[in-house]
Amino acid sequence: MAILCRLHRAYGDALIREIRAALPEEEVREWPAEAGDPDEIEICAVNRMEPGFLAPFRNLKLISATGAGIDHFVADPGFPRHIPLVRIVDPDFAARMADYVLCWVLFHHREVAAFLAAQREGRWAYRLMRSAHEVAVGVMGLGQMGEVAAARLAAQGYRVLGWARSRRDIAGVRCFAGAGERESFLGETEILVNLLPLTPETRGILDARCFAAMRRGGVVISAGRGAHLVERDLIAALDAGQLRAATLDVFEREPLPQGHPFWTHPGVFVTPHVSTTATLGAIVGGFAENVRRFRRGEPLVNQADPMRGY
Ligand code: NDP
Repeated sequence: MAILCRLHRAYGDALIREIRAALPEEEVREWPAEAGDPDEIEICAVNRMEPGFLAPFRNLKLISATGAGIDHFVADPGFPRHIPLVRIVDPDFAARMADYVLCWVLFHHREVAAFLAAQREGRWAYRLMRSAHEVAVGVMGLGQMGEVAAARLAAQGYRVLGWARSRRDIAGVRCFAGAGERESFLGETEILVNLLPLTPETRGILDARCFAAMRRGGVVISAGRGAHLVERDLIAALDAGQLRAATLDVFEREPLPQGHPFWTHPGVFVTPHVSTTATLGAIVGGFAENVRRFRRGEPLVNQADPMRGY
């Protein structure tokens, strides 16, 4: 029985080569050229897939996401929810996300866009700057990404609030829990960082109601999933001054289509889904560890819960 890998092409051939090197005792096939007989596939490592992709593999016993998110698996009505699904959890993966979040929080707090614009006009635009402790940053989602980002912001001196489903305890972060405490969390937040997973409860969570609950002149930084954001509500909130800026790394449609208003809106800063990437070592190490555990009949690590959605 074989392993089938459908991998992110950004790593070129290095990823499949490293997986083969890490699992010399396994037959590792690369999709699509080497897929072969679907009945011979017992383990699948998948980056992205269209609905129904896994359906032909009737003998599948382990599925591995080669990233952190599992939303595209769970969104597939035919996804086999009874088969264990593992994902990538890695300290460096989270640390890179914390770099992105800190970079953009500093960018907005220190009003870098205004200074760049003033320089383009040859204008000496002196203004008073605030201390980090005067800026309230709210982090939605306190999992592998959110916890490290929130802790980094706290270490930088920001007033950090966090929101998750369950009550979390993170040094330097005031934590809120559940839908009942969302409004209080938003009400104190000036810069909102979205690091939630995409589930039925969180789809469209960055909407007009969310922006209205935030302090006026707030900022949104979203690196979760594009479908968290109601795009027209963001534009309306920016145009009305309820928000002063947004940094977006993820979009409903990727690549962001030509002509999309986000490309040119003065309050929107676009990055092309680059906030973090897992290293080859993190992807290969995590996957190989789970394959070995699976073969030995041991408990898997970094297992996601398709019923919960993350
Ligand atoms: P985790 O599954 O580790 O953490 C999810 C967090 O969100 C948990 O704290 C969880 O609460 C909380 N949460 C889930 N549902 C709700 C809800 N309904 N209300 C409130 N809180 C909720 O996710 P990761 O940290 O690994 O990933 C976070 C996001 O980042 C995902 O969307 C992922 O796809 C995205 N991502 C984006 C990348 C990019 O390049 N842009 C790269 C990697 C990840 P609790 O703690 O109570 O369970």
